[in-house]
Amino acid sequence: MISRFIKTWLLPELIRGLSVTGGYFFKKKFTVQYPDEKTPKSPRFRGLHALRRYPNGEERCIACKLCEAVCPALAITIESEERDDGTRRTTRYDIDLFKCIYCGYCEEACPVDSIVLTDIHEYHFETGASGTISKQDLLQIGDTHEPAIARARQADSPYR
Ligand code: SF4
Ligand code: SF4
Repeated sequence: MISRFIKTWLLPELIRGLSVTGGYFFKKKFTVQYPDEKTPKSPRFRGLHALRRYPNGEERCIACKLCEAVCPALAITIESEERDDGTRRTTRYDIDLFKCIYCGYCEEACPVDSIVLTDIHEYHFETGASGTISKQDLLQIGDTHEPAIARARQADSPYR
């Protein structure tokens, strides 16, 4: 009877709940104020793709199509032709980012470290009709972010 009275009128559950809230109020906060604050990313982070060049500006990609063959989402489309010097290069390299599942198989398959997944995860498309990124865009991303891409590969190299 007394215990029922205490539970009904002194609201011990409410006091217990408020004490938990109060305890957390003064503790260190774990909430990250994104996008002003960002958490660290692994060098293996699989974000937006890029095509890389060698330091002399030559495209790394040799149009072997291994990435296209290994892609489980059939997201990569490559067309290629032979150049005057006998080497083969792509004339088309499209990735449908709406199909892509960011598995990283294309990067793993590439024998010349050409196609890579960068740590860029904040991007959007201007039109909703297509999520395809072209060779020129991929090369542009590679050119712009090459120092960061090279650093990430260097950091991960002991584990490969
Ligand atoms: S990350 Fe995976 S799904 Fe996306 S293009 Fe590469 S192989 Fe295909
Ligand atoms: S990106 Fe790499 S795997 Fe894909 S076609 Fe070019 S060289 Fe071959």
